[in-house]
Amino acid sequence: MSTPNQISPDELPRADFASIPRYSAGAAPEIDLGDNTNQWGAPPAASAVLREGLDVSRYPDMYGDSLKRTIAKMSGFGPECVVTGNGSDDVLDCVIRAFASPGDTVAHPDPTFVMVPVFSRINGITPVAVPLAADFSMDADALLRTNARIIYLCSPNNPTATPTNVETIRRIIACARGLVIIDEAYVDFTGLSGFLSEAPGLERVVVCRTLSKAYGLAGLRVGYGAASAKIIEIVEKSRGPFKLNIMAERAAVEALTTDSAWVTARVRDAVQNRDRLAGELRVLGLPPLPSVTNFLLVPTPRAFEFARSLRASGIGIRAFRALTGIGDAFRITAGPWPVMERALAALQTALRSAT
Ligand SMILES: *Cc1c(COP(=O)(O)O)cnc(C)c1O
Repeated sequence: MSTPNQISPDELPRADFASIPRYSAGAAPEIDLGDNTNQWGAPPAASAVLREGLDVSRYPDMYGDSLKRTIAKMSGFGPECVVTGNGSDDVLDCVIRAFASPGDTVAHPDPTFVMVPVFSRINGITPVAVPLAADFSMDADALLRTNARIIYLCSPNNPTATPTNVETIRRIIACARGLVIIDEAYVDFTGLSGFLSEAPGLERVVVCRTLSKAYGLAGLRVGYGAASAKIIEIVEKSRGPFKLNIMAERAAVEALTTDSAWVTARVRDAVQNRDRLAGELRVLGLPPLPSVTNFLLVPTPRAFEFARSLRASGIGIRAFRALTGIGDAFRITAGPWPVMERALAALQTALRSAT
């Protein structure tokens, strides 16, 4: 039954949502080398928290206060300079929403983290893609020329795995018209300290990090951002209370403190196996881009064919279509060597089959 003044069901949603796809990367296979998670599993002290459990009849801290204090102490600034989120995806979404209005623009390198244009569009903000230079470095001049309200940088960059030059980042920070987001999801694998500690002293910078990659807690959804207290106050308005659940907050504190030696050791393993995997891929005639992360990007016109045939052996890799300046490519996460051997054997089988 409907009365004449009612909106038709087709017109109930926001009009611009019609052209926004529902993000999906397919179901996770038995071995998932598609999304750069920790292939050694979750760290032990964090896992123990989850096994022991907590009283979930209570609400968590409104803004993840114990995690904010932990990060602040590790980084040498106050907890008022930290925002926590339901994954760093959530932090990115909240920052974009709070610092750009519908109709504004967010400039980002291309290719980069696929969620950035998605979060821009669901907030009514226009993403502006700026191609990477031929050597996969970020084009500071072109990013600055967009005059965007927000410039997003990924350091190191996903999905290319390549580093982002520190001087390029500094130049963008110095000259950007609006806010600069530096996404350091893979900084742990670089051996460099990144911009986290500096962020609170900069007036228009937010540095984002995640516990989903090196820290092995992707399923718990924990991320954070660091910035000046003035910026964080605004991001927390956009975030709202209770985003981080009570179990995730406690496990994240353990992962960052008690588990830190475990994490460092797994990072070392990942880097070592990444280089070994890169060598084997080169032997197969599939040279990857140079990587400073826990994954490799391998440009090949057969990327989707390889992804399909590895999936048939229970191994997930991520295929990308027509990446700007690169073409089709697949991304593969570094893990324990026996897993890498399985992936390499499946790739060899796929290579031997006709194109
Ligand atoms: C994985 C990833 C994230 C998101 O991590 P979550 O904390 O799991 O939401 C953010 N940025 C980049 C570049 C990533 O690769």
